[in-house]
Amino acid sequence: MVRMLNRRTFLKNSAASLPLAAAIQTLTPATLTAETITDAAISGRAPKLIPLPARLAPVDPSTLPWQQNIRRVGQSNMTEHDPAVMNIEEWADYWHSAGADIVFISVTGILAFYPSKVQFHRHGKFLNGRDFFGECVAAARKRGMRVVARMSPDLNWGDALEAHPEWAMRDANGSVLFNDQESRLFRTCMFTSYMDDYVPAIMREINSLYDVDCFYTNGWPPIGSLPNCHCAICSKLPPSHTAAYWRAFDDRVLELWEKYDAIAKEKKPDRFFFANLGGNVRCGPNLDRLGKTAAWFQADNQGRTFDDPAVWGCSLQGRVCRAVMEGKFAANVSAAYSTGTVRWRNASKNPAEAKMWLNETLASGMALYYHFIGSEAGFGEDRRWQKVGSDYFQWAKKHDAHLEPRRSLANIGVVMGQSTQLLYPGPATAHAHDYMRETTHGIYAMLLNGRFAFDFVHEDRLDRERISKYRALLLPNIAMLSDRQCQQIRDYVRSGGSIMASFETSLYDQNLQRREDFGLGDLLGISTSGDVIGTNGNAYYGRIERSHPILDGFSNTNWLPGAQNRVPLKPEQDPVLTVVPGFVQYPPELAYPPVSHTDEPAVVLREVASSRLAYFPGDIERTFWLTGHGDLLRLLHNTIRWITHDEAMVHVDGEGLLEIFAWETAPGYAIHLLNYTNPNAHHGWLNTVYPLGTQSVTMTLPSGVKVKAVDLLRSERTIPFRLEGVELRFTIPRVDDYEVVAVIVG
Ligand SMILES: [Zn+2]
Repeated sequence: MVRMLNRRTFLKNSAASLPLAAAIQTLTPATLTAETITDAAISGRAPKLIPLPARLAPVDPSTLPWQQNIRRVGQSNMTEHDPAVMNIEEWADYWHSAGADIVFISVTGILAFYPSKVQFHRHGKFLNGRDFFGECVAAARKRGMRVVARMSPDLNWGDALEAHPEWAMRDANGSVLFNDQESRLFRTCMFTSYMDDYVPAIMREINSLYDVDCFYTNGWPPIGSLPNCHCAICSKLPPSHTAAYWRAFDDRVLELWEKYDAIAKEKKPDRFFFANLGGNVRCGPNLDRLGKTAAWFQADNQGRTFDDPAVWGCSLQGRVCRAVMEGKFAANVSAAYSTGTVRWRNASKNPAEAKMWLNETLASGMALYYHFIGSEAGFGEDRRWQKVGSDYFQWAKKHDAHLEPRRSLANIGVVMGQSTQLLYPGPATAHAHDYMRETTHGIYAMLLNGRFAFDFVHEDRLDRERISKYRALLLPNIAMLSDRQCQQIRDYVRSGGSIMASFETSLYDQNLQRREDFGLGDLLGISTSGDVIGTNGNAYYGRIERSHPILDGFSNTNWLPGAQNRVPLKPEQDPVLTVVPGFVQYPPELAYPPVSHTDEPAVVLREVASSRLAYFPGDIERTFWLTGHGDLLRLLHNTIRWITHDEAMVHVDGEGLLEIFAWETAPGYAIHLLNYTNPNAHHGWLNTVYPLGTQSVTMTLPSGVKVKAVDLLRSERTIPFRLEGVELRFTIPRVDDYEVVAVIVG
């Protein structure tokens, strides 16, 4: 009961001040009540609140590039059949009435939607000489919507191949690579003159005929992987999936991006080019370089897949966009159609799932983007997606000012190692493609479970100005780090920052060359004694050697589960946990440790002035993702609390699995709560919503900031708040799938 008083007295007091109707509403059977306790030691301890930074100076939106003021993007992705069946007025009316600021209209490159004269730009068979593209542009313009000219440079037909065999991607035997579903289309190679001549010819033709606001290429550059082509040009490049190839690939992406952007600007200086991106932390092009160039981050991240099944896939992408665009425009392409391993590209998906993807888009700071394929289906056979999207867009339009983040209120930075994600193979026993994805989901799920507010930080943006705002940086197996990046991390710690790192972090350089020892060995106080050790049935354990805050809440055990794989370390003085080596799990007769005690550390902790450093030699985040083991969760939560000195800027107390975003906005602050408490959080789609009960929010405002009101934007009501000095407290009575709390200040 002592614990109850600590945690819940405030909740109950606050609930008493709510209107009766609201109090009753929270008691519906589907609602988790305050008594539904998981583990208070994990979820319940309140952090020390540190004051929010002084508010940013206001910005006049009219001084920003036009795309910065786009909030809603609409796309009916056009098919070859559309010129015969699409009602252009109906299409334009739908997107206009929904509140779209800009629409995508297909130019393409595979099939022309206008009477193109560019050689090999084949006219669609239902075009019949009509200027379908031009009519769509006129209909959008008439309604005040801007226009993206959408192209696809990735595929072309046999006549082009016959005339230009050098345009094709080829396999190791020199055979042309064709599209795996439509074998009449060959795959074009991005290093060839197809991209230098054919694509610019179409862009210039569009510029000469129409007034479009920007150009976009679908299908290029590749998402989530690097090309593997053996054409005459590519054969001279370094082998695919090496660091040297990645640089050559990046150079070419940037070269073409800048070339296309210059062509867009030939018409008007505020026009620009952008291309398909996505793949979250495993994006193809280097996002540090591209983030500096791109005016629009198109996150082609349309829905969950069997391989990447976590419900937070869109938020994860939003964090990546924020890390590299730093406030420039980003939109997440949300499919209204049925994404996944089994697809129905012309059927609406579950509304609960579609809405959660839109919720995550807004919560993570991106612009809404809603997408359906083909008007024959979308305005004919299956029209269910329309109301889901237009209702959502209309709601968001009422609250635009609160839904545009200006600054994150997170004090933890998670380093996203893009090169490690793309190039590092993982331990010998791992599936390379899955290994780092599992690591990413492990740290993500762990942070969500602990309700920590965090940002992603790109490995190439570890300069002091960017990272000094974080109390701690987390390095979840960032295996590849250059000497310079290691030095930046050392400097960060020297200036007071804390670190949590795991497994092979810094064991490889930027070229994937294994170092003799850890690049951060001196900082973390670690030295490897051999190669990675995997498991032979039973993973290793950590033996508790002495008490420490990272072990809070563990009792009645001498052992804690370790990870599946570990880097063996040389002994250290006075360890907190030591390794009990793994052994077989079958037969049970042999399931006991070969030695009961070693001097090999299972965690290494250091304190240097106000910096706290923690290193786990195991792949602990990934092992948590694979198992869900609560001991690993507790150990990681305790460690983050220890290295951050238990500091936070915003605290949200209550039950349930939530993802939390806290932003400074122009009118004040916005706290976004995404309710993932659902049997389909890790697999499949959401089918229904399981509402949560009260969530109490506490934050410490900068001095001199007055609160005018606290509004709930999803439930569209104002709630009471308490301001004691600079400490602001309020209670959200109920969270359905999503709530946005707007704190309006004066
Ligand atoms: Zn090639």
